[in-house]
Amino acid sequence: MSRLLFQGVPGVADATAGQLTTDHCSLSTVSDADGDTLHEECGVVAIYNHPDAARQTYLALYALQHRGQESAGIATADGQNLANIKGMGLVSEIFTDDVLAKLPGTMAIGHTRYSTTGDSALLNAQPIRVDSTKGLIAIAHNGNLVNLGGLRERLERDGAYFQTTSDSEIIVQLIAHSRKTTLVDAIAESLSQVDGAFSIVMMTRDRIFAARDPRGFRPLSMGRMKNPDGGETIVFSSESCAFDLLRAEFVRDILPGELVMVSQDGVTSRQFASGVEQASCIFEHVYFARPDSRIFGRWVQESRDAMGRQLARESSVPADVIVPVPDSGVTAALGFAEESGVPFRMGLIRNHYVGRTFIEPEQRVRDFGVRLKLNPVRNLLAGKRVVLIDDSIIRGTTSRKIVRMVRGAGAAEVHLRISCPPTISSCFYGIDTPSKQELIAANKSVEEIRRYIEADSLAYLSLDGLLNAARGDLDIGYCTACFTGNYPTKWVDVSEIQPAVAAV
Ligand code: SF4
Repeated sequence: MSRLLFQGVPGVADATAGQLTTDHCSLSTVSDADGDTLHEECGVVAIYNHPDAARQTYLALYALQHRGQESAGIATADGQNLANIKGMGLVSEIFTDDVLAKLPGTMAIGHTRYSTTGDSALLNAQPIRVDSTKGLIAIAHNGNLVNLGGLRERLERDGAYFQTTSDSEIIVQLIAHSRKTTLVDAIAESLSQVDGAFSIVMMTRDRIFAARDPRGFRPLSMGRMKNPDGGETIVFSSESCAFDLLRAEFVRDILPGELVMVSQDGVTSRQFASGVEQASCIFEHVYFARPDSRIFGRWVQESRDAMGRQLARESSVPADVIVPVPDSGVTAALGFAEESGVPFRMGLIRNHYVGRTFIEPEQRVRDFGVRLKLNPVRNLLAGKRVVLIDDSIIRGTTSRKIVRMVRGAGAAEVHLRISCPPTISSCFYGIDTPSKQELIAANKSVEEIRRYIEADSLAYLSLDGLLNAARGDLDIGYCTACFTGNYPTKWVDVSEIQPAVAAV
């Protein structure tokens, strides 16, 4: 049975305690039945000055559930204590009314995570709460650090005791071991010592901090809202879609290399790093972020629409219908259809109730996988020349099943169009990707992939087309390493970034 992990919760001993009513261990995630989808690893949230900070954080995490479905946690602070509860499962499964009631305070941070399975999954769920020489600190982190070699050992030699194997805890231990006299100086110094991707929120008993790495790999935005007491609540979220649920107003993105502090003195900010070229993750615009979010200064919906339009300009084909692979292919397909003048039809229907709740032995789930998730609308497809729009091909197994499914529904031709270039390299910055050997585009030509997936034609969006679509009128520097192999950080030893490859 899955359990909750309690730390510093009034009236509850620190330890794993309590049990969820569902045995998550026996559930299979059929939404990724073939392991053929990329996973975002985390979403983070912070709330400052709200009478029910835990519930606001819960709502925001609910809006960020797409960024990670395996574990979630909320830590709250009331000026004196810092309580933390985390567990395995969906946000709504973990945080019942009873559980939320155990989290008092006007400040909170939250985290939702896609994690690889294993014994350490609950322990490595976040927020991580550490009682350090600088006082109690809780941290929630989206991204992956890449220069860990030696840092952990050095800290352990200096007396650090690590509770987890998560690289996020290294940031807290660096803070604890900093010789700087103020906490904000210690945090700034610590963040400047680590490299890689981090959008983090941190909390002490009376302050909230939010920061992004100098390249700005992952999104993080600040918002504000009026709270029921008439005061102003400051909110941080991985994506702006969470602000809508809270009725908060979007204020701005946290800048790459910026550290923001919120305390009773208000909001203050400093740059802990500068002069580094921006490398925000372009895949956030292709696939991970929600289309109703504004990230890196641009609406995701606008980017995906532009990707679809450009894809139509680059690789249009005579057809009767444009059909998205739902849900993530929908916006690009709308752009493709408008640009090409070919009608858009929902020829594949996604079952939204499949996911964590389908209990089957793993092999049977694999066999059922795509059919459980998607079903063709035969009257829309039979006899038609179909252009399918999807956002990526990872291993190729799912794409082949979908092409077969559409052909099996009577389509006369099936053409597959992908709204980004071929994925040829693994991600080291917080996205769980298969190894290069398992990425079909790293090992086969486009024509070989077309034959493998049994499509009549296959085309990908060009890199320039993708960059233009994700930039619009803005001057944004993007990471495109999974399409080019050109990594924005110094090359790292794969053994140093185990979390990114452990799920292979
Ligand atoms: S390698 Fe790809 S998925 Fe990873 S940060 Fe860069 S663009 Fe994003």
